Amino acid sequence: MRKVDIAVIGGGPGGAAAAVRGARAGLDVVVFEKGVHGRDKVCGDGLTPRAIAALDELDISYADAHHIDGLRMIAGKVTRELDWPGGLFPAHGAVWPRRRLDAALIDAAAKAGAEIVYGVEALPRLVDGRVTGVDVGGETWQADLVVLAAGATGQAGRMLGAVRVEDETFGLAIRTYVESPRHADRHIEACLTLSDERGTAVPGYGWMFPAGDGTVNLGVGALSTMKGFKRLNLNRMVESYASLVRESWETSEFLQRPRAWRLPMSAQKRHGPGWVAVGDAAGLINPMNGEGIDYALETGILAADLFVDDPVDCAGRYDHEVANRFDGFLRTGRRFSLLIGHPWILRGGLRIAVGTDPIAKITLQVMGNLVDVDTPGASGRVLRLADRSLGLAEPLLRRTRAKP
Ligand SMILES: Cc1cc2nc3c(=O)[nH]c(=O)nc-3n(C[C@H](O)[C@H](O)[C@H](O)COP(=O)(O)OP(=O)(O)OC[C@H]3O[C@@H](n4cnc5c(N)ncnc54)[C@H](O)[C@@H]3O)c2cc1C
Repeated sequence: MRKVDIAVIGGGPGGAAAAVRGARAGLDVVVFEKGVHGRDKVCGDGLTPRAIAALDELDISYADAHHIDGLRMIAGKVTRELDWPGGLFPAHGAVWPRRRLDAALIDAAAKAGAEIVYGVEALPRLVDGRVTGVDVGGETWQADLVVLAAGATGQAGRMLGAVRVEDETFGLAIRTYVESPRHADRHIEACLTLSDERGTAVPGYGWMFPAGDGTVNLGVGALSTMKGFKRLNLNRMVESYASLVRESWETSEFLQRPRAWRLPMSAQKRHGPGWVAVGDAAGLINPMNGEGIDYALETGILAADLFVDDPVDCAGRYDHEVANRFDGFLRTGRRFSLLIGHPWILRGGLRIAVGTDPIAKITLQVMGNLVDVDTPGASGRVLRLADRSLGLAEPLLRRTRAKP
C-alpha cells in the first residue's frame, strides 16, 4: 500500500490546480487521470479575466493561449462589443484549447513534484464513512485527503454523493471547431437570441471563441429550465447556429463531429470526512455564462491551501469557504435561470440587457463573471437587487417554471 498526503481523482483544471499547489508546498501528491496526457475535454475553451487571475495565482504562463480583449454580444439585430474593463481582474481573457491548457496545468503539477498516473480509473476508498484513500486497479493508495476532481459525472462522485440536486438547473452544451480567417479576432462572440427548431427562445447562447491557431471553437449551450428542454436537439441547434455565423466568420465545414457534455450547477455534497470535491464534481458552473474552468482552478487551489494550513480540519473549512465565495452568486444564477426559462421573459429581458450602453456594460460584467454581490458600483448594486428580488420570487418561480 502506498501512502501520500493528497490523492487527486481527475487531472483536469481542478485536479491539476490542487496538485500544483499541494506539491509546491512540499506535500506528497498523486493524481490519477483516466485519460492520456494531453487528453481533450468538450469545452468552449474560453477563459474569463477571473480565470486568468487564477492562472496568475498558480504562476502558469499562458503565452500559448490566444489573448482576448473583450466580448461581443449579439441579440437579434443589436451587436455590442465591449472590452474587459480591468480593475479587480486582468483586462484580458483568453481562448486556450483544452488539450493544451490541461496539458500545461498537469505538466506544472508534475514539475512541482506531483506523481501523475495516466490511463487508470481511481475510486474513493470508504472505511466506516470516511474516505481513507483511493483504489486503483487492485492497488490501494492511502491519503490524508482525497480531492475529487472527476468532472461532471461518474462513479467516483456517485459513491460520495457528489451528484447534482435533482430539482436544480443544469446545462447542456455542444461544440466543434471550424477554420476561419477571423481565427485571431481579439473578441469572443456570444449570440444570445437562439431558438430551437420549434421557435422556442433558448436560455443560453451560441458562441464563436477564436483560438488564434487557424480555428474557432463554435458551440451552443442551453439551460435545463427552458420550455421543452427534454426534446432539445443540440446537434440541430449547432447546425443552425453554424449557418447563422457562416457568412460573417467565413467558416469552413466542421473540423470534427460536434460533441456535447453536461454542465452541473449544483451538488448534493462537496465534502465529507477525508475528502473534498472541486470544480464540476462540486457542481461549480456559473449558470449566467456556463463557465467552470475558473471555479475548478480556484477550488483546487483552495483545497490544497486549506490542507497545508490544517490537514485535520480542512474538509469542513473548505465547504464553508466555497459557500462564502460562490454559493450566493451561483444561487442567484440558478434563480435567474428559472426566470429566463420562460421564453417571453427571456425575449423581453434580452432587449433590455443589450438595449443601452450602461445596461449592456452590466450584462457584459455578468456574462464575463466580473461581478458578484460584493462588487462595488452599479453592477454590484444591480446584482444585489436581483439577488433580493429573485430570492423573494423564488417560490413563485419554482411553481411557474417552464415545463422541461
Ligand atoms: C460544451 C461545453 C463548453 C464549455 N465551455 C466553457 C468555457 O468556454 N469556459 C469555461 O470556463 N468553462 C466551460 N465549460 C465548463 C468546463 O469545461 C468545466 O467546468 C471544466 O472542465 C471543469 O474542470 P474540472 O477539472 O472540474 O473537470 P474536467 O475538466 O471534466 O476534468 C475531470 C477529469 O477527471 C477524469 N476522471 C473522471 N473520473 C475519473 C476517475 N474515476 N479516475 C481517474 N480520472 C477520472 C476525467 O478523465 C477528466 O480528465 C464548458 C463545458 C461544456 C460541456
